Amino acid sequence: MKVLVINCGSSSLKYQVLDMTNEVLECKGLVERIGMDGSIITHEKIGMDKFVLETPMEDHKAAIGHVLDAIQDPEHGVVKDMSEIGAVGHRVVHAGEKFAESVLIDDEVIKALEECVELAPLHNPPNLLGIAACRELMPNTPMVGVFDTAFHQTMPPESYIYAIPYEYYEKHGIRRYGFHGTSHKYVAERASDILNVNLDDLKIITCHLGNGASVSAIKRGKCIDTSMGFTPLEGLVMGTRSGDIDPAIVTFIREKENLDQGVANEILNKKSGVLGISGVSSDFRDLEAAAEEGNERALLALKVFAHKVRFYIGAYIAEMNGVDAIVFTAGVGENDIGMRDIICNDLGNLGIKLDLVKNKVRGKETIISRDDSRVKILLIPTNEELMIARDTYNIVNA
Ligand code: ADP
Repeated sequence: MKVLVINCGSSSLKYQVLDMTNEVLECKGLVERIGMDGSIITHEKIGMDKFVLETPMEDHKAAIGHVLDAIQDPEHGVVKDMSEIGAVGHRVVHAGEKFAESVLIDDEVIKALEECVELAPLHNPPNLLGIAACRELMPNTPMVGVFDTAFHQTMPPESYIYAIPYEYYEKHGIRRYGFHGTSHKYVAERASDILNVNLDDLKIITCHLGNGASVSAIKRGKCIDTSMGFTPLEGLVMGTRSGDIDPAIVTFIREKENLDQGVANEILNKKSGVLGISGVSSDFRDLEAAAEEGNERALLALKVFAHKVRFYIGAYIAEMNGVDAIVFTAGVGENDIGMRDIICNDLGNLGIKLDLVKNKVRGKETIISRDDSRVKILLIPTNEELMIARDTYNIVNA
């Protein structure tokens, strides 16, 4: 059975078609500038050159229409007609407390997700638009929702309750939810396979370090804590997001700089993180180049980032009473040799020893700890689309 995976943003959309009989990726693509001038689809049938089409796409339905055309294209397509697509898996960012697992989408699920819009006002609306467009264009194809928050629903209350008046949790759902769940789950499962140890016998810390970044503590296959919270702003220092700060800073800066709420939000989400500290870039490659040329603030940004990752690793070792494996994934985690080195430096007393030679690798599943390291350190490229396709396939075939 073939599964179409859709990850729909406000003006862009990523998709893949996977053949789930052998979990092979057949094609993937990206639609950009939906609803703007210069809408464009870039489609790639695996093993062939990319095919690019610039054509007006006024909304998500038009964009998905072009995706369906591309995957049925006689030359670049991977199916003769849509009946070959057995199901569609949709990435949905926020399911609140409603779903702890992926679900078959029906009207009731849509209603539940609409109720989560106020928790994720930037992400859930385009996710829902993608679902609505697919349901219209493929009325007979089953759809599955896979949620970023679901994997973290196993956190115990002491991990997710904020120390503010409890009524805000009851009235408004203010609690920690966590994000990147599909990625944390995928790499934890891969780590268990690679190490050939059952997930039930493992304590794993997964470090998803991309533009957005989060760390999770996974004990016996269940998430017991994660660094992102009510929104993806909490936790680690990120490309442009502040991560944890003293909440009093927000009111203080607003007063000092005479900022309204929207601007304050934008500063914390778009102008902070390693970009904010360095004033150089949110991209770690730029920061490392600048640091090498002697830019002190670029170096400081890298150090602050690493400090925070180490801080969470330490915390999660305490929470789990130990750790068996630490996994690095996402753009920085998979590619940044120097950053993995700084994060793992001088943790020998905790049984964590990085092998500096094995660590010289990018984007490839590798055990990068020394043979005498009690804790295994792994590099595992994330694959959220495969995870979405797997859940979709399993639910539809259940
Ligand atoms: P997201 O999906 O959150 O947008 P990614 O997981 O794709 O982010 O990570 C993107 C980031 O990965 C880039 O901003 C860059 O900082 C980092 N990155 C990618 N390649 C490298 C590399 N070779 N060395 C260091 N950092 C890298």
